[in-house]
Amino acid sequence: MAELEKGTPQVGLRFRNPDEAWKFWVEYGGRTGFDVRKRYTNASSYDGKVISCRFVCSNEDHRRKGQTNNVRKCFRAETRTDCKARISIVVRGVENYEVTNVVLEHNHFLHLPETRHLMASQRNERKMMVHNIQRKWRMMVAT
Ligand SMILES: [Zn+2]
Repeated sequence: MAELEKGTPQVGLRFRNPDEAWKFWVEYGGRTGFDVRKRYTNASSYDGKVISCRFVCSNEDHRRKGQTNNVRKCFRAETRTDCKARISIVVRGVENYEVTNVVLEHNHFLHLPETRHLMASQRNERKMMVHNIQRKWRMMVAT
């Protein structure tokens, strides 16, 4: 699993269960810079086990019913990109789910890891400030 977690989604990848595949997709989204969501899950009416499911980019399904028109209008320009990025998995047997469909292209900008970067530099700045104050204080004490 360690290698899988760092990998790129591709057809033929196997997972023991849908949760494992979901975590993989979440991790891939986090690394690549897009939000993820579950598009659908088909479960067996016989035993309730997942037969197939699809994980998508969160920019995919903004036409889904249930969202209010107001919200859609406000955010249309930014969020309604109808992104096609996704993976689909299908059950092949006991503890055996296979990726059967992969689309990794996004039709929108991906998040950059700059938020984290800014936060880190802000922290450093604050550390510097404390450092300077301590130095001044020490100089005052010394004189
Ligand atoms: Zn996308």
